[in-house]
Amino acid sequence: MKDNFLNSIYQKCTTKQSITQSEALKILAEVPLLDLVQTAYKVRYEKWKNTVTIHIINNIQNGFCPEDCSYCAQAKTAKTGINDYPIKSDEEILNEAKAAYERGAFRYCMVSAGRGPSKRRVSKLAELISKIKEKYPIQVCLSPGLLNDESATTLKEAGLDRLNHNLNTSKNRYQEICSTHTYQDRLNTLQSAKKAGLELCSGMIVGMGESNEEIIELATKFKELEVPSIPINFFIPIEGTPLSQKTPTNLSPEFCVRILCLMRFFNPNAEIRIAAGRELHLRSLQGLALHAANSIFMDGYLNATGTNQVETLQIIKDNGFTIESEFDLELLLKTSELNVKLKSLSELNPAKKVTVKT
Ligand code: SF4
Repeated sequence: MKDNFLNSIYQKCTTKQSITQSEALKILAEVPLLDLVQTAYKVRYEKWKNTVTIHIINNIQNGFCPEDCSYCAQAKTAKTGINDYPIKSDEEILNEAKAAYERGAFRYCMVSAGRGPSKRRVSKLAELISKIKEKYPIQVCLSPGLLNDESATTLKEAGLDRLNHNLNTSKNRYQEICSTHTYQDRLNTLQSAKKAGLELCSGMIVGMGESNEEIIELATKFKELEVPSIPINFFIPIEGTPLSQKTPTNLSPEFCVRILCLMRFFNPNAEIRIAAGRELHLRSLQGLALHAANSIFMDGYLNATGTNQVETLQIIKDNGFTIESEFDLELLLKTSELNVKLKSLSELNPAKKVTVKT
């Protein structure tokens, strides 16, 4: 029964047939986890083999956001005491792009807080993107907020590869998490980017009170929009943000893996990325999750810090994956700082008194 079900899901993925609502609900709640992951891995392998792409985010501008997304530490409504700063200098951003490239990142993602960039800001970003693309063979992604057709075209012409703009939650729930822009505004931005020829990156934040049906709605939307890059964030309640008071975070690691499997089945060829909150919610299942997803953020996110380079690379290596990079995973691991301090002899065996001969 279980094998028939998963065989049929696999067949549907490889023949581009749609997964039904009742099948999707079973994926999220009923099918034994390891069988589910095994099938997701088979689908993942077709396109991505055993590779993982590492993405590194750089907040090129922090805070000062007039929007009120209730999960976000940068929102005007948040009382988080984050370090606000205007856009960084070109030199600083270029150095950070260089560092990301040298640390094995496949893609360098620049994020700036705010509703959307002014015409002047778009020109500045376009200049910066051209400089990065001239200097380093790295894919560049930008998350600038809402965009229109004209801005999207300017950025594309400057060499931008991808535009990130997350849908975050379902259409009906959107007004619960934000009142200053709408789900439709977000969709319009994605459509402008697509029209300009930019690759889309759009994902969601799970754990903000949505139902399983709403998660399926988002998976279906990404499929409809043919989004090639889908970051899945797991909600981090940040103190001082309105949503952290309201929303219980009851995501289990197992459920998080199921969501990644669902995203894989709905979007077999997409780069499914394990994004913010992986440390908090996936915990010890991060390696298992990579069998459904094929991409991971390293070194933190828009609002939160994450595990460091060594831990992230080690998860990839321990699970038998390699990285898509000009740099070798083994070498990167060897040259990364391993912060292991040995315990003193007395700490290792406190029952025994250790006498040190002099
Ligand atoms: S998610 Fe983006 S638009 Fe919303 S408050 Fe945060 S920085 Fe502003």
